[in-house]
Amino acid sequence: MSNKTLCITEELYEYMLSVSLREPDVLRELRDETRQDENANMQISPEQGQFMGLLVKMLGARRTLDIGVYTGYSSLCIGLALPKDGKVIACDDNREWTDMAKRYWQMAGVADKIELYLGPAQQTLESLLGKGPDSFDFAFIDADKMNYDMYYEYCLQLIRPGGLIAIDNVLWGGAVADASINDDDTVAIRALNRKIHKDPRVEISLVPIADGLALARKI
Ligand code: SAM
Ligand code: CA
Repeated sequence: MSNKTLCITEELYEYMLSVSLREPDVLRELRDETRQDENANMQISPEQGQFMGLLVKMLGARRTLDIGVYTGYSSLCIGLALPKDGKVIACDDNREWTDMAKRYWQMAGVADKIELYLGPAQQTLESLLGKGPDSFDFAFIDADKMNYDMYYEYCLQLIRPGGLIAIDNVLWGGAVADASINDDDTVAIRALNRKIHKDPRVEISLVPIADGLALARKI
């Protein structure tokens, strides 16, 4: 037995899913179709989607942000967890991937809860901020890593006190802990991890689910 986070084997991972994953058919079908795409590893894992859905419900969230949509899995997990009058503002700049996302949101019956803003996420966040701060309960950051810090700062303004920002890929396949790896994405994620660690504006936990999910609750 160990009190340290386990380095999970394929066998243990399959076991974990077999006793905990409750993935609706529409999400599984979305994963199946996304698998045909060469960028499929950008999609969040099903257990992470389920975890985020639980967080959204625990927060009693109504207004949420999904920064980085791809084929729509994270937006759909959030949308399914929201009450009838909930909203996901989904930000992405790729029409092809988000057309597929919209098809699945429709199939899942939550298209009315998910509003896609097609374009650079910075522009969308700037326009949302123009409508007022503290107006969201939950945000998921999963777009271009070089702009993570900027998205984090926007989210801190857009989220209400007590709301939650979840930041994906903060362990970046382990590269963040390898001093010999210094490409732009790794350096950006490493810097943001250090900044969040010391940031008095939030309470935090780094959850080693999938590729690492940082949770920051706005104080
Ligand atoms: N959360 C998604 C899911 O669950 O499948 C995965 C998101 S994927 C890792 C990153 C997405 O960010 C891509 O779909 C890409 O088009 C989008 N993206 C990258 N840079 C962007 C930018 N500057 N503005 C808006 N979207 C961007
Ligand atoms: Ca990701």
